[in-house]
Amino acid sequence: MTGRRWRDTFRTVASAILDATMPASCARCGRTGEPICDECLRTVPPIAGPTCATCGGPFDAVTQAPGAVTECWSCRLAGKDLPRTRTAATLEGTIREAIHALKYRDRPDVARPLASLLITPALAVTNGVAPVVVPVALHPRRLDARGYDQSRLLAGHLARACGWATMDAVARIRETDSQVGLGRAARRANVAGAFRGTAPLHGLHVLLIDDVMTTGATLVEAARACRAVGAATVSAACLAREVSATGRLP
Ligand SMILES: [Zn+2]
Ligand SMILES: [Zn+2]
Repeated sequence: MTGRRWRDTFRTVASAILDATMPASCARCGRTGEPICDECLRTVPPIAGPTCATCGGPFDAVTQAPGAVTECWSCRLAGKDLPRTRTAATLEGTIREAIHALKYRDRPDVARPLASLLITPALAVTNGVAPVVVPVALHPRRLDARGYDQSRLLAGHLARACGWATMDAVARIRETDSQVGLGRAARRANVAGAFRGTAPLHGLHVLLIDDVMTTGATLVEAARACRAVGAATVSAACLAREVSATGRLP
């Protein structure tokens, strides 16, 4: 067991003890009881309407050309590299606040209720085949700063809820700048070669887990790393997509 794995395990145990002794408070409204209360969870609207077959983003009316067009403009421009992806919601309101708490306010306990929102998108891309759940890992330096890897926590809770296996099979080998504010080409360049497969995935169906999807450039690179170590198929489920990454024409 690596030191990092030990620390994650310690955190999980410590937070379980804390949960048992101290009631959590909702990361959004502050109500005592759950890390995110049911009332706040219910305010997360699912992505509705016609969606892209590849990225799951909503279509604009303008992209619904007559005929058999099933992909949004964004995916048609991106080619075939993006794994089939579904997200629970767009990055706004409750889910935006909850993800912010998970990533920047030292609230790893929020991962469990947030992971429940990943079940529907995960089932939508796995087609009844049990996947191995692989988190899109943080770079070790960012992990050190945060103390836990939010994608690994989400992957663990999702895998437990669904009875699936999980594996740390992808490592981020290059620290990347924040994707915020970068255009599509700059995002791809920023994450190119950022991941390496660290465990054999021969013949396995991989389900990548990440918190936020922007243009999908990170998922493209993580999927490439999985295929390089033998993954049979790669799909992805994320909590939220940036509003700008909805597949709509810019
Ligand atoms: Zn609440
Ligand atoms: Zn799309």
